[in-house]
Parts: sequence; structure tokens; C-alpha cells
Amino acid sequence: MDYQAQLDNQTICELIVDELRKGPATRRELCFQLGYSRTTIGRALEKLFSQQVIEVIYENASGRGRPAEKLQLATKTVHAIGMDISRRRGIAVAINRLGETLAVVQTFGIEQDDWPQALEELCQKLADQLSTAGCNDAAVSYVGVGVPIPIGCDAWAKRDEPGTLVNKLQKQIHQHWETTILVDNTIRMAALGEARWGAGKDLSSQFYIRISGGIVGCATVRNVISTGAHGYAGEIGHIGVPGSQKKCYCGKTGCLETVASVDAICEHAQLDNLALFPVILADENHPQHQSVSEAIELAVDSLAWVCANSVMLLDPSQIVLAGAVPCLLPDFVEQVETAMQKHLISDLFRDTKVVLTKLDSEGAARGAIAAAQTYLHQNEVNRTMAERQRGDSDDYRGTD
Ligand SMILES: [Zn+2]
Repeated sequence: MDYQAQLDNQTICELIVDELRKGPATRRELCFQLGYSRTTIGRALEKLFSQQVIEVIYENASGRGRPAEKLQLATKTVHAIGMDISRRRGIAVAINRLGETLAVVQTFGIEQDDWPQALEELCQKLADQLSTAGCNDAAVSYVGVGVPIPIGCDAWAKRDEPGTLVNKLQKQIHQHWETTILVDNTIRMAALGEARWGAGKDLSSQFYIRISGGIVGCATVRNVISTGAHGYAGEIGHIGVPGSQKKCYCGKTGCLETVASVDAICEHAQLDNLALFPVILADENHPQHQSVSEAIELAVDSLAWVCANSVMLLDPSQIVLAGAVPCLLPDFVEQVETAMQKHLISDLFRDTKVVLTKLDSEGAARGAIAAAQTYLHQNEVNRTMAERQRGDSDDYRGTD
């Protein structure tokens, strides 16, 4: 699946929601303000009613006669849910149709490969919190889930086959919310969140890299996050880097992950916690100062080499670094930028920057919502286009 980083048009439902954001309105007022026929507005409203996004109120402006039927937004109705599960923590967020956060829950200390259990915990916690807050989650429109494993096109295509991974996940979530579910790799969700609301806002191309337990990249090119022909684009953690002879768990030797992942850096420095690094780096007399510096230098050089090759291949406006390594280590981003420039043709790529992520922990979960929204939006556009070709639709916009 490819995702559009910025959606380029609004659907009628979105236009109606934007209009109702200003205050309650009658059907007639909506038709007038938005310039659509009563039939078209009626069809979109039907959809919004079924999603329990709007409700009817009665207002009597003059105090006499029949009260006017007006429509207003139901702000405590959950519109979408996003979840992001990395190898260490999980986060889930529920939003209403206005994009406002209704609930956020987290879970920590996920055991290796036990993320399906973390997913269950997140679903339960979120359902409980929504219920406590008096929110209505009976008509959730979609759920986006980012999981910490590669999801290829093949895995997605088999989502309706019982027993397949995506099918199991869907069933698990359906026990809480019977709705459309999109499952993809967590990195794409995060990259999409970054492109929409983070460091990549208003840029049509960037390369997002997360360096933590593993190293994965995700490119946005001309506003599209492409997942590749088979769904495995961005596995840059397994690009071989010069000088490394270490065996990687993928079966190859000398992968970037063998020198620049959290575990690799810690192993090289003979420490078991990356959070200790800043203190040791600041103290030149610390007995481990030398080994920590060397471990970081190797990670920086190797990552810069891969970044430079990615830049020459994709020519992005910038590279965004996210994950524990750039977030915890001081000056890491600046060091990668300086080292990367040495590997580039400076006349051509002088302006290519390396920057730190601007997303908070909710960002990736919101990215999962955006991915699901984009997926449904694209399906709706395709369906409307097909209807138009058959000549049985009177308007060209999707309604969702
Ligand atoms: Zn590898």
C-alpha cells in the first residue's frame, strides 16, 4: 500500500464536519454554505449519522412556531483509533471526528516478540478509559495499527484468509471494535505522522529513519510514502557497511544494525544502557569515555554512509532521524549530517539536512490513524471513479 502524505482534497463529509465545527446548522444552511444539492448533502449526512458523528438538536430562535431541526457534532463519539507497537512500548489513541484526542493509553516493557499480547492490553485499556470518560465507541470508523514486523503486500492481500497474521490481528481487534482495520509496519505509520504533522510538514519529500532496537527507513517521494513492489521498502538496517564483519540475525554479515542499533552500540561500549551514555560522554575522565566515544563514532560513520547513499538515490529535502539513538545521544544528528556530507557530491547535495524527529509519542499512533484514513480515502476515490465511468453517480467526490 502506498500512502499520500498530505491529502489533496476534502470529501463532502469532511466539508460538512468543518462547517459544523463553527456551530449547529440546518440541512438547508449546509446546502447553501457548501454549494451542493440536497440529495448530495443528504447522502453524506446519512453516512455521518451512521457513524454517530452528528446528532439532531432543536432550536427555537424566535420563541414561536415549530423549533428548527439543527445538526451538531457529537464530540464524544470515537471516530478513529490508532495504535503503535514498537519492540519496547505500545501506545493507543482515540480521536473524534474533529481530530481531538479523547483517550490515550500506553503499555511498557513488552517482551521480545510478545507484541500480540501488548496489543490486547492496549485494546482493553483503551476501551476501559473510553468507557470511564463517557465516550461512545460503538461506531468507530476505522482502526490503524502499526506493528514491529515487516508487513509485505502478500501479508495484506491474505487478510481475509483465516489463520494468517493480519487476519488474526483483525479478529483480535474486532472483539473490541467491529470496523475496518488497517495493519502495517510501525515505521510507515510513524513516517506518515512525521510527514503530516512533524518535521516533514509542508515538504514533499523526505527520508525518515528510526534507529532503536532495529533500523528502518521510510521515504516520502513527491508526497507519496511508497512501500515498494513487495511491501518491504526501507529495510536499510540490513545494508552492508564498510569495515563491519559482524554476523547479523538476518543471515548476512556487516549489516548497519550490527554497528548502529541500540544493542550494537551498547555491546561495543560494554554498557547495557544507552541512557548512561550522555553522562559518560560529558566526563572525559570517566573510565568508559573512550569506549563509548568509539562506539558512537562507528555508529555515526556507518549510518552517515547509508544516509549518503540514500540521498544520492532519492534526493530528499531532508533526512529525519527518530528512535532512541538520536533522541538520547547528544549531538548525534549533527554528527551524522557532518559525516554524511563527506560521502556526498557536495555541489549537488549541499542543502540536504539531517534533522531530529518532531513527533511526540502520540505521533506514530496518530500516523496509524492517518494511514487507515488514507487507505479508505483512496478506496472511496477508486469506487467513485468506477461509478462515474459506469455513469451512475452524479458527483465526483467521495462522500467519506
Ligand atoms: Zn542484517
